[in-house]
Amino acid sequence: MFNLNTPESKFAFTAVRQAALLATQVHAEVATAMTKDDRTPVTVADFASQALVGSLISKMLPNDALVAEEGADALRALATPETLAQITAFVARFAPEATSDQVVEWVERGAGVPNNRYWVLDPIDGTKGYLRGGQYAVALALIIDGQVQLGALGLPALCDGYRPDPYGTGSLVIAARNQGAWVTSLAAPGDFERMHVSNRANPSLARIFRSYEGDHTNVAQLEEIIEIMEVEPEPVGVDSQAKYSIVAAGKGDVVLRLLPAGNPDYREKVWDVAAGALIVQEAGGKVTDLRGKPLDFSAGREMLNNAGVLVSNGALHSAVVEALRSVGV
Ligand code: AMP
Ligand code: MG
Repeated sequence: MFNLNTPESKFAFTAVRQAALLATQVHAEVATAMTKDDRTPVTVADFASQALVGSLISKMLPNDALVAEEGADALRALATPETLAQITAFVARFAPEATSDQVVEWVERGAGVPNNRYWVLDPIDGTKGYLRGGQYAVALALIIDGQVQLGALGLPALCDGYRPDPYGTGSLVIAARNQGAWVTSLAAPGDFERMHVSNRANPSLARIFRSYEGDHTNVAQLEEIIEIMEVEPEPVGVDSQAKYSIVAAGKGDVVLRLLPAGNPDYREKVWDVAAGALIVQEAGGKVTDLRGKPLDFSAGREMLNNAGVLVSNGALHSAVVEALRSVGV
């Protein structure tokens, strides 16, 4: 059984669960999005989720740093007074003391600096999936001395850790180093079930997952890899770290985060990878960059020492690394 009795696991479970339930409610009630300076979308749910996690860390682990995707400057610049009031009203469903000023402060709580011990948060991983009715996640992880020690994903549109269902009870997936990866229902948590990767070793049967968004990956290169490995199943596009959960649950075998053709110098953001990586490893799988190099979580907000991400059940890892090498990755 997963141990929820440490201050860290209690915080991770509570924060991811409440933020994911909050995101589900915003999803049902608000349809609009704003656009950030980098031209990516941001929603009421991104800011509300980050504010709620910021408020919870201030209460539960007041001395810990939080490094989160969204910023208070963007909130001030993008949100009209009406939108800020809307965000505040959603946050107040879980933190009744919320005021607009308090919400801005709680979002600002996520402006921590990565050091020897810090939490990383993607308040809504897969915002485009969230807007499209696809997969999305609240992703939270604890990094100590460059190693992920705890990772949690709130997955409102994924049941049992692998089955897409926008109207189901969702999944809460959590892993602690050397303690396994576990899944329970998001809406009605009960017993945790242990997660295990598949033992599929035949590359031609590999179930490969990629980003749904074509410009977050390299579709032409993926085709080449599939041809070299003689993979029969069609790769499946899924948004967010839901992909990692599907592999941890043994219902997928490989996730490829290839470098976008139009942006080959893209470096992963820590919060897009950390929680999912530990979850797959603790389920028995393997996670490296595209060249088979271990992931380095000590380089700051961006993973400057790695190129892309390769996630697998372990058994297929070297076959994929070899195929990647042969196409020049
Ligand atoms: P996915 O759901 O696999 O498309 O991954 C979503 C994450 O990809 C987002 O949280 C972004 O941080 C990240 N992302 C945004 N733009 C890019 C890009 N051009 N290439 C790769 N990843 C990106
Ligand atoms: Mg993200």
